[in-house]
Order: sequence, then structure tokens, then C-alpha cells
Amino acid sequence: MPDVFADLVGQDEAVAELRRAAAAAAAVLRAGAADREPALIAAGPASDAPVAAGSGGVDPSSGMTHAWIFTGPPGSGRSVAARAFAAALQCAYGTGCGECPGCHTTMGGTHADVRMVVPEGLSIGVGEMRALVLRAASTPSGGRWQVVVIEDADRLTEAAGNALLKAIEEPPPRTVFLLCAPSTHPDDVSVTIRSRCRVVPLRQPPATAVAEVLVRRDGIAPDVAQWAAAAAQGHVGRARRLARDPEARKRREAVLAVPRRLTGVGAAFDAASALIEAAEAEAEASVAESDTAERTALETALGAGGTGRGAAGAMRGAAGQLKELEKRQKSRATRAQRDALDRALVDLAGFYRDALTMALRAPVAPVHTDTAALAGAGAQKWDAEGSLRRLEAVLACRAAIEANVKPRIAVEAMMLALWKG
Ligand SMILES: [Zn+2]
Repeated sequence: MPDVFADLVGQDEAVAELRRAAAAAAAVLRAGAADREPALIAAGPASDAPVAAGSGGVDPSSGMTHAWIFTGPPGSGRSVAARAFAAALQCAYGTGCGECPGCHTTMGGTHADVRMVVPEGLSIGVGEMRALVLRAASTPSGGRWQVVVIEDADRLTEAAGNALLKAIEEPPPRTVFLLCAPSTHPDDVSVTIRSRCRVVPLRQPPATAVAEVLVRRDGIAPDVAQWAAAAAQGHVGRARRLARDPEARKRREAVLAVPRRLTGVGAAFDAASALIEAAEAEAEASVAESDTAERTALETALGAGGTGRGAAGAMRGAAGQLKELEKRQKSRATRAQRDALDRALVDLAGFYRDALTMALRAPVAPVHTDTAALAGAGAQKWDAEGSLRRLEAVLACRAAIEANVKPRIAVEAMMLALWKG
């Protein structure tokens, strides 16, 4: 198995910083084993580069700290970075060697002292966060660190954010929080939480780096890898899906057929319906399996169909739990739909971005090589200004959906704008 940072594509600076921090963390543990209780100095609001205590001459700027935020565009590898860093912290050699049990179990998701919080619904609630903070305060069973990774920290409810803030403000000596968020904008992460964290910005990895990892790690043919990396616009997971999954390719083709189909008002509304329904179908397929499995598991655990004394009372409690599960599943389905729709919009934005760069004769490669001719024709017809207006219409639609405008209304408005120009 290669080094734990191997899959963090095109992020050399971030990887270097995380390696230094992991080494500093290992030094803290060694110093603690030698004579005193190992501890980190928590990051205060005034300090951006906190120093590892007792690290015995380790460069202060390379120090370790309790709380981190990984930021970057979707697909840049925020959660990949957080998981790799967690592994490096649990690594027996402090490097993230990829070989030792600490690295192995963290990467495999089974390390007893690493918890990954992946919100399935639209938000992470306060109950979930309190339970997590409580467990994070316990002594690490493996003798190193308790690591809590919160994917999509931008989906914390306000109350959950406050519960987390308390833990970050007065961190247990051996607990490390790793947050992932699109940015450090106050809409994503509260200013107070941000002020207590060290930020690791990730960039959109270049297509060549994404293609390289698809070839090396996934054994994908170089020409397919190059096409998929460009089409996915730096999103590593999306590139892999496009290279491997014919259904994903078909969905992308349907989205890229939209500009051709916009011949009138009726066609614009039809295109909007098709886009929404495709996103719904994709989301349904992605959650159906786990929904059924969860329901069966819960019913079995509750002893559904049991008879005898107490069974009626048990079933009354069970109804509440099933209702709770249904609520969670519904929230997850909504999220999956929005994610699917957002992927489609990103593809569509790529098309109009191609038209714009062609109209400007900018010396950059097109995002979608397979629709480059069509984008070129659009560029001639619309010129730079018309191409830009269309690109903006797609981006405005994404922003509106993010701000909770009903997807159908936002998409219909976008299609009309794309048609009229
Ligand atoms: Zn290791």
C-alpha cells in the first residue's frame, strides 16, 4: 500500500504542511512518553500558527494543533485529505506510511480512535454533535490521538456548531478535530470556529494530475483518463465515475444535449422537466438500496412480527423509531437529488464556459472535448457577451438552489434565460 497521502491529487503544498504537522504530533507523543503528559497548545483567536508543546525543538511553524479546517471546491479532496491526515496521526511511525496497522485501519474506516461524521441529510444536528464531542473526550484506546473528522462542516446546525465550538475552545489534550467545508466564508463555517482552527486550503487539481491518478490507481486507459479528468473539471471522484460508469456517461451526454434542444419556450420547459426528473431518478437509484437495508435491519432489531406479552408495547415504540428513520431517509434523498442536479449544472456550466473561452479565443483547453464543436458554433452565434450571460444563468441557478429556491422554479428560469440569451 502506498503512502496515505498518495490519493491527494495535485495538492503538494497541503501535503507538505500535513506531513510536518504529523511529525510534530509524533514528537509531542514521544516527549510525553519520556517525561510528561503530552499536550498541544490550543489555537487561540490571536494565533494562526500554534506551536506544539513539548515537541523538543520542532520548528514552531510546523507545529501541530487541535483543530483544522480543510477547504476547497467539491472534489478537490477535502475528506481525502482529512482521512489521510488522521491516518498519519495514528501511524506508528508518524509519517502516514500506509503499511502499519494505524494507517491501515484509519484508511479502512475501522480505527477505534477515528470517527468520520458524514451527514446523510441536509444538516448535522445538535444531538449527534453532543454525542460525538462526548466520545471524543475519552482517552484514545490506541495511545495516540482521538480524531474526529466532520465532513461537510458547513451543514452543522447553529446549535451543533455551538456544541462543537465548546469542544474546540477547551479541547481534551489528545483530541483532534478535522473539519471539511467548501470555504471559510461565514456562511460555511462560523467566524468563532474558524478563529480556533488552522486552515488547509486545497485547490482544484489540474486535469493532468487527475488523469495521472486514474491511470496509476484505477488502471484506466490513458486516453479515457484524460477525457474524464477534463470533463470532470478537477473533481477526482466524478472523473473516476465518468471513466468507469456508462450510466454516468449517459447522464452527462443528456445534460450536454440541453443547449441543442432549446428551440423555444415549450422546449425550454421540457428541458427543465427532463433535467429535474433525471436528477430525481439518479438520486432514487443511489439511496434505494440503503433505504431498504436500513429498514429491514431496524425491523429485525425491533422484532417486528413478534407475538406474546409486551409485543404490542414494543411495537408502539417501534413505530416512533421507524418514523425517525423515514425522516432521516427523506432528508438524505433530498440531499442526493440536490447533489445530482448540481452535478448536471456543473456540466452545463462547463459547456457555456467553453463557448465563452472560444469566443474570447483564449488559449485554454475545452472542458468538454466531445461537445467542443457545438460550443464553437454557440460562440459564433452568441459572441463573448451572450456566452457569458448564459454561463451566468447556470451559475445563478446553482446559487438559487443553494439558497433554497425550489429546484424546478430555478431550473425553469435558467432554461428560459439560456434560450433567450
Ligand atoms: Zn503508518
